[in-house]
Amino acid sequence: MHKSLLKNIKLVFIEIQYNILIPDALLRLVMNILLQEWEFPPFDRIKIEDYESAIRAAIEEAEHTIETIATSTEAPTFENTVEALECADRRLNRVSAIMMNLNECCTSDALQEVVMKLEPEMTRFSMKVMTDHRLYERVKTVSENSDYSEHSEKKTLLENTLKSFRRHGVALEGEARERYKRNEEELSELKLRFSQNALADMNDWTLHLTSEADLEGLPEPVRTAAREEAEAKGLEGWLFTLAYPSYGPFMTYSTRRDLREKMYRAYGSIGGRGNEHDNNEVIRRIVELRAEQARMLGYNTYCDYVLEDRMVQSLPNLRRFMQELKEAVLPAAKNELAEIQRISSFTPLMPWDFSHYAEKLKQQRYAFDSEQLRPYFRLDAVREGIFGLYGKLYGLHFDPAPEVPVYHEDVKVYRVLDGTREMGILYLDMHPRASKRSGAWMTEFRGQHGDIRPQIQVVCNFSKPTAETPSLLRFSEVETFMHEMGHAMHGMLSNVRYESLSGTNVKRDFVEMPSQVMENWCYEPEFLATFARHWQTGEPLPTEFIDKIRAAQNHLAGWLCLRQLNLGYTDIAFHTMLDGSTVGKAEEVEAGAMTNLLPRVPGCCTATNFSHIFGGGYASGYYGYKWAEVLDADIFSRFKQDGIFNRDTAARFRREILSRGGTEHPAVLFRNFMGREPDNKALLKRMNLL
Ligand SMILES: [Zn+2]
Repeated sequence: MHKSLLKNIKLVFIEIQYNILIPDALLRLVMNILLQEWEFPPFDRIKIEDYESAIRAAIEEAEHTIETIATSTEAPTFENTVEALECADRRLNRVSAIMMNLNECCTSDALQEVVMKLEPEMTRFSMKVMTDHRLYERVKTVSENSDYSEHSEKKTLLENTLKSFRRHGVALEGEARERYKRNEEELSELKLRFSQNALADMNDWTLHLTSEADLEGLPEPVRTAAREEAEAKGLEGWLFTLAYPSYGPFMTYSTRRDLREKMYRAYGSIGGRGNEHDNNEVIRRIVELRAEQARMLGYNTYCDYVLEDRMVQSLPNLRRFMQELKEAVLPAAKNELAEIQRISSFTPLMPWDFSHYAEKLKQQRYAFDSEQLRPYFRLDAVREGIFGLYGKLYGLHFDPAPEVPVYHEDVKVYRVLDGTREMGILYLDMHPRASKRSGAWMTEFRGQHGDIRPQIQVVCNFSKPTAETPSLLRFSEVETFMHEMGHAMHGMLSNVRYESLSGTNVKRDFVEMPSQVMENWCYEPEFLATFARHWQTGEPLPTEFIDKIRAAQNHLAGWLCLRQLNLGYTDIAFHTMLDGSTVGKAEEVEAGAMTNLLPRVPGCCTATNFSHIFGGGYASGYYGYKWAEVLDADIFSRFKQDGIFNRDTAARFRREILSRGGTEHPAVLFRNFMGREPDNKALLKRMNLL
């Protein structure tokens, strides 16, 4: 009570000093639950109108603190500058985490409106901080005058802070500074335009079929969806689109080769049809600007700029990684293609034949209905199984905490305990609702720092129980649950001093390792035996089911791996260009970058529709999917070798990796745990390619 009052008085004092608020608003601020002190997010007491005033007050408070740091007359020290910056926006982070997380999992029109209004203000605030020359100079002075080689966490925080300023262009002067800023603005417009063009081109094209004969090979649900699509447009017959849920099944099941070719050509030309949505010029300009931005910051290419801040570290490292993996999977990919070629009657096999015959081969070899597994994976049992695994590995247990406020009745809360020590709070939000987006993710309301323990949320979309049936998971959903719990425990077992370095705040190509590694346990009979029982009969899960799943998953493993590498090579090809004028046609760049085992079709390419790298945040980072897989398979091989429940191995994994968050370079953490550099053999073995 005392503490909360004091904090509010401090805040109000700041407002009065700056003469910004009228007394009415002042009163609202004092009453605003989001600005008071609470142990847990006060979901049961937040009103929608609280967000706007709380976020604005928190921004002003942070701005005030930051101004004090920037204008301090004291000589810059680690404490009064770097550490002070780390803590300056803590209240803002806390309040915005509630707002942003709820907007994902329990939103409303009103909340969306508030977020739309406040998100740009928060971005403006952080951009203002990261481009503040006075702060940069102070951090630079700290860096020049001190040696933290003995204190790795302080060293990392200092390096990250300095790097973050530099990577925002703060060190640039005069015209260069203005130009950098203008380029950034143009880039964000171009990224948006790229995605809009791709979407418009995708939506422009449809395949309207009116004769039943044209549907040959398509399963009933695919036909139904196409009929509904047609009805929605007021058309007779069936309508297929280039959106994946329509395009994918059509290419897989349709026996009409002529129509598959039509679909393929339409899909492959998205963003490259020479119309007003053509992305070739957008790509050229994006490449040109990114190259220039990187050069201005002192990097050779955009790729160098991105990779410097990743576990892989450098372009030569990345090229070596990709080359080694490619050489290992290429023979398998060629064999797989030859097999598919054999069961089709076409020479050469064309790209529009591939999915269709790949599916035929899969049916011949691995006909297995994975729905058979569902009765063995009752959600409550899976959850207890996962909790039990964390008990076996780390001695943790999970106590229900019904006293902690929740934002929806479906949410369950647990206190995670290590002996008597509370490690943090876990919110599990498992079922879909209209106010939740699709997918599954882990996030935090509060990250661990010092003695403050984290508050972590895992959100999934598993089907709800009904009156007759409990919630039963697909095998892939069990994997998803394990994956997100892997992220959650990375946050939960964190033991660092600074929040920006805690838990999952690691390099982007490392963050999926602790989550993906947990998926490996799903294939271990010893683990499954602890919880997977038929919910009606109690019969244990037949392990041959798991073998079948693994075999089916490895179907075309070499081919699919090569496909991912090809996309990675395309990404690198564009982002190692020194100058936009060398781009030419995107199609040609892509053709040169990829290892093409199937004939390339003129007018078709991926690049003009490759939103990951031109519209989203994966530029120079597409390799990350494969990178994380190599790491997780490699790490799990150590558990496999020592025993999947081995307490010592787990304790080492916790000590050397999970507890360390981003305080040390992941390459060092990996080496500390494995005693060597990453090796792709474990992944190749898992894919059955060794
Ligand atoms: Zn993940």
